[in-house]
Amino acid sequence: MNSSTIYKPTSQHPSSLFPQITKCKNMRHLTQVHAHFIKTSQIHDPLAAAEILRFCSLSDFRDLDYACKVFNQIREPNCFSYNTLIRAFSEGNDDEALRALLLFHQLVFDRFVLPNKYTFPSVLKACAKRGRLLEGKQVHGLIVKFGFAYDEFVVSNLVRMYVMCGEMDDAHLLFYENVVEFGNGGKLLRDKRRREGNVVLWNVMIDGYVRIGNFTSSRDLFDKMPQRSVVSWNAMISGYAQHGKFMEAIEMFHEMQIGDVHPNYVTLVSVLPAIARLGALELGKWVHLYAEKNEIEIDDVLGSALIDMYSKCGSIEKAVQVFETIPKLNTITWSAMIGGFAMHGQAKDALDCFARMEKTGVKPSDVVYIGILSACSHAGLVEEGRFFFNHMVNVVGIEPRIEHYGCMVDLLGRAGLLEEAEELILNMPFQPDDVIWKALLGACKMHGNIEMGKRVAKVLMDLAPNDSGAYVGLSNMYASSGNWEGVAEVRLKMKEMDIRKDPGCSWIELDGVIHEFLVEDDSHPKGKEIRLMLEEISEKLKLSGYRPKTTPVLLNMEEEQKESTLHFHSEKIAIAFGLISTSPGATLRIVKNLRMCEDCHSSIKLISKIYKRGIIVRDRKRFHHFENGWCSCMDYW
Ligand code: ZN
Ligand code: ZN
Repeated sequence: MNSSTIYKPTSQHPSSLFPQITKCKNMRHLTQVHAHFIKTSQIHDPLAAAEILRFCSLSDFRDLDYACKVFNQIREPNCFSYNTLIRAFSEGNDDEALRALLLFHQLVFDRFVLPNKYTFPSVLKACAKRGRLLEGKQVHGLIVKFGFAYDEFVVSNLVRMYVMCGEMDDAHLLFYENVVEFGNGGKLLRDKRRREGNVVLWNVMIDGYVRIGNFTSSRDLFDKMPQRSVVSWNAMISGYAQHGKFMEAIEMFHEMQIGDVHPNYVTLVSVLPAIARLGALELGKWVHLYAEKNEIEIDDVLGSALIDMYSKCGSIEKAVQVFETIPKLNTITWSAMIGGFAMHGQAKDALDCFARMEKTGVKPSDVVYIGILSACSHAGLVEEGRFFFNHMVNVVGIEPRIEHYGCMVDLLGRAGLLEEAEELILNMPFQPDDVIWKALLGACKMHGNIEMGKRVAKVLMDLAPNDSGAYVGLSNMYASSGNWEGVAEVRLKMKEMDIRKDPGCSWIELDGVIHEFLVEDDSHPKGKEIRLMLEEISEKLKLSGYRPKTTPVLLNMEEEQKESTLHFHSEKIAIAFGLISTSPGATLRIVKNLRMCEDCHSSIKLISKIYKRGIIVRDRKRFHHFENGWCSCMDYW
């Protein structure tokens, strides 16, 4: 939630009285006006001094050292001057927040000045900054002492302070004291005597519960609140999205769409990542259109979110379109675009984009390099990858993170440079994690290096004993070299340790609604039709000469259980549903949580040909664009 919803200007500014100050465009101008004021003694006018102070404290050109000097020159600073400087410091970093508290202390002991209700929000903000609960509680005491305990504005900020310090119990107590009372039967009654429907206070509480991931309480408050503002909706939507509850975020957004509170800029920025993760292209397009229709500015932030959404929903063309219309590109926008190209295997475009970025003088961030390195990795550009990695470290001076090493291991591993990849892992300046070892294990399987594979699997099993990854990888490796004894041994071990594989799950979006399918799922209202369609697909696949892989099916083990006639992988169920629910020729877009198995991959190629449909599947690794019997990954994923 945006704190500006609580923040209100300290008071009305008499700036119109001093056009010379209003016109200042930097601190140099201001010092000239200041000097002039001193020369003409105009500085002794308290309003003039206050305006000078306001400019160097709160304008875009603020200079807090200068502000302190001005403040110290004021003979008898009033509450307004204190408030100005306290507010300026409270908005700064941690050290500055501390100075805000010291100034407040000075104010309390200044016998000519009393704090007013505009003093406390800044002071509370300064307390919240680093969770200074003790100071916050003392300020709470002073709020009571100075008679602001019933001021709606002060109380919202007080509750917010408790929320930010993680003291939900105290926040809750204060909230209930101020907003609601329980009637006799435990029924919730609104306290009409006091601030009925103080939306801000409710929002602060909702935001607090969302922050700590307590969605039961936040949802409960959200449902009970007498009146919801756009901030209430945004707090819930962004909270769900940030905590990985993408489906809930989108449901909430749908609920909002039919209500009378309209989504704003923050809503769109909050919901887009959830849409991207679920690959809900139609909904994403709706958001884009909504922004355009309602003249919500598509700036670098919203634009980057749209680019990311379009790339992750499989529409790289639309991502490029958005990219080209953003007036000011920042490093996040560039990395969204480069990451998008990488995800779609368009390495050349990613590299071109990077070159363009360098030309515009935007400094590449570490995230940009992750995009570039993974683009190189997808396209097997070993030399380029090495070059960019070294360039990043030695020229740009970015400390590589484990993700960068991960990309390099992937790149070297795919190219068969297994020793080099292993050496890189062992020489990293930090502990390798399971992700990076899994990348190497995958490469060992790809290149049939059983010796190294066993070694890596052993490390992985020690590192993450309950993760199926190492077992699956090892078993796959044995299977591909025909070592069925090895496969059986691994399977037995998995059974002994009760290690389960992640359940497969796929999504497809139709008319903005996301349909989720699990393996063997027939819970869908159209379950019967889907089942019939799956049978039809199997029949047509057989007629076109397709034979499911008959290599020792029982022992070979992918990430998922093998398919059978009674057991379809979730992406096939989603495709069957898509085929019966869309008009002929429409492209189907599916998102799958695991890596697609080889069997599904080859049958979807045929389905795209038989049913004349473009099918786009985003699996855990990358995008597959299926068209007329082919896949964009060229069977390499
Ligand atoms: Zn499959
Ligand atoms: Zn593919």
